[in-house]
Amino acid sequence: MAAHLRNQPAAYQPPGQDSRGHEAHHPVVGPASFLRQSVQYVKGVGPERARLFAKLGIETIGDLIAHFPFRHQVQGRPQPINTLEPGEPATIIGNIVSVHTSAASWSSRRQSVVAEVEDATGYCLVRWFNAPYMADRLQGIGRVRIHGVVRDADGIPQFVNPQVEPADAAVAAEPRDGERIEPVYRTVDRLPSRVIAAAVRQALPRAVLEIEELFDEAYLARRRLARRRSAIERYHYPTRLEDVPIARRRIAYDELFLMQLAIAMKRNRSLTLDRATPLPSSREIDLRIRQRFPFTLTRAQDRAIAEIVADLARPRPMNRLLQGDVGSGKTVVALYAALVAVANRRQCAIMAPTEVLAEQHFRNVEKYLQASRVRRVLLTGRTPARTRDRDRKAIAAGEIDLVIGTQALLEKDVTFRSLSLVIVDEQHKFGVAQRGTIRGRSAPEVVPHYLVMSATPIPRTLSMTVFGDLDVSVIDEMPPGRQKIITRWMGPDRYDQAWELVRRRLAAGEQAYVVYPLVEESEALPLRAATQEVRRIAEEILPGARVELLHGKMSGRQKRDVMRRFAAGEIQVLVATTVIEVGVDVANATIMVIQHADRYGLAALHQLRGRVGRGDRPAYCLLLADRAGDLARRRLSILCETTDGFRIAEEDLRIRGPGEILGTQQHGWPELKVANLAADTELLELARRDAMETIRRDPALTSPACAAIRRELIARFRHRLAWLDVA
Ligand code: ADP
Ligand code: MG
Repeated sequence: MAAHLRNQPAAYQPPGQDSRGHEAHHPVVGPASFLRQSVQYVKGVGPERARLFAKLGIETIGDLIAHFPFRHQVQGRPQPINTLEPGEPATIIGNIVSVHTSAASWSSRRQSVVAEVEDATGYCLVRWFNAPYMADRLQGIGRVRIHGVVRDADGIPQFVNPQVEPADAAVAAEPRDGERIEPVYRTVDRLPSRVIAAAVRQALPRAVLEIEELFDEAYLARRRLARRRSAIERYHYPTRLEDVPIARRRIAYDELFLMQLAIAMKRNRSLTLDRATPLPSSREIDLRIRQRFPFTLTRAQDRAIAEIVADLARPRPMNRLLQGDVGSGKTVVALYAALVAVANRRQCAIMAPTEVLAEQHFRNVEKYLQASRVRRVLLTGRTPARTRDRDRKAIAAGEIDLVIGTQALLEKDVTFRSLSLVIVDEQHKFGVAQRGTIRGRSAPEVVPHYLVMSATPIPRTLSMTVFGDLDVSVIDEMPPGRQKIITRWMGPDRYDQAWELVRRRLAAGEQAYVVYPLVEESEALPLRAATQEVRRIAEEILPGARVELLHGKMSGRQKRDVMRRFAAGEIQVLVATTVIEVGVDVANATIMVIQHADRYGLAALHQLRGRVGRGDRPAYCLLLADRAGDLARRRLSILCETTDGFRIAEEDLRIRGPGEILGTQQHGWPELKVANLAADTELLELARRDAMETIRRDPALTSPACAAIRRELIARFRHRLAWLDVA
């Protein structure tokens, strides 16, 4: 209660403590100085609260007005005291007639301050518990505005710990007949939304005077964008609720526009400054590489290869993202690119996020490179020290053409003689720092070409931001003969039917996966469940079938052994936790049963499902779930509807939000505060086009028309675009 009261609006500060006293130590020195002042100088904030604001990332007044509310609450207009109804929220304006402190009463053992407030129609009581200082604060304030829920105190209306402020201040904030729309802010402990609202209201009128418009009227009109100043004002304190989305749209546009601009400039700079070794191809090289593959490449693969080959031939570094669903044939495309580098007598490195994946890539590549002269090594944390030492020397001497590995490749002692192409698999699973290390540089120099592969289909909106500085090639076609995966969501009444389907596949000589969720917090529990389930499946459900368990707690050797026997057909049914997500390719496995399917995320289910349908027979994925909440239902029905990884990714983004998908801090660009990548797709497209056009016309933003944009860009991205500040 006490904390509640201490957080009264700013206007309650007794005159002697007015923050204006501090301004002498922090003089106003020129334009934009107010926005840069510490938030502690806002009336009613002070050093102690400033520390709480800092927890919200608010240090300056500029930060404060950029902290937008996540919703608004409408307070009704003030009503006559004689119309107050107990139980209802209400607002009144009245005069304080008396204030006294009462000792613990019969109804409450706490001490309280009680004020009598009257208007022309009647009087009511306002009570504060555990806040003796309220007695002093209320002295000398005549008219007050009070908002809270009305209670009944022996027939007299009473407010307990309501929102209260001097009526004079209140009037200024009342746009329409005293009805008020209050912003509601994200808060931290001991800093309630009301205090933030009061600080914003204090600072806003002066702060917006320093807000510069970025665009001219015609530009805004064509895009139906509000003016910047009024958008900031209205987003906090709208006159009508309908103003809020209009204001928000402008703020979101700026956020997206400036981010796209920063990305485009960074990219432009890399294009003009960085040099790469050209790796030209030829008809002969092309034919030689294609001979390595025992199949014809799909049109989508050819398209991606053409884009990559064109990039590689240039003296500028390629920066390309290769996207495609699991099994779409990315590895083949990557290997093609690697072989172009090797044909140019240059080194190539392929990097995977885990040892398992690196090993898998290596095995895959071995398959295609039999009897070739390409010198290649696998380098991971598991490589024995002696081998590693030998390989390291060979890499440095240029005696190795192709290095496949994990982060181990990034260690300082690994140096290349002529590294010209770096291929990174599932880059978003590495941190940005690592990407920086392998490409890290401060001055213009010769850098390797760079290709990122991602099997997690990334919605366009995300790739435009997270990977916005990359060109994108998409493999949107599966190799021929791929079977559609028939996906069914089955409740308990159809479990028998599900197992019957499995029996039939086994009888036809095919194999099955049964998947169990591994809940991280209590790994022991599902593990026991899976162990028991193996027995139940082997004895009761699929008697006679060869059933085995694969789980994350097994040693690498054990896992490899089980996988080998499953691949060889010695095991018919593999009961597994999600460890089978990576590195499994058994074409004879045609059916997957996912238990408790409601517990998995959309992306995980889609990845899992990709383990079947790798051969030439129809494949099934049966999603078993006894009860599913709304979100789980949505996930399951989307899976039944489509196998299009990109559609699934879009839905996933909508359900989970971008942070969850990529890991919040992974991508290095600041979080979007207002714009929402799932909802603001069109706005993002617009902002991106506009940013590109701006840069095309004025690459360094030196024209007067771009001056304000440039200033804003530097303010937001100073740390990422240090060169812009100097230029
Ligand atoms: P991804 O890396 O995208 O998951 P891979 O490159 O590993 O896909 O290819 C998946 C499987 O499809 C591999 O077994 C590969 O040999 C095969 N494959 C790739 N491209 C083709 C193609 N054009 N025609 C037939 N099979 C292909
Ligand atoms: Mg692959």
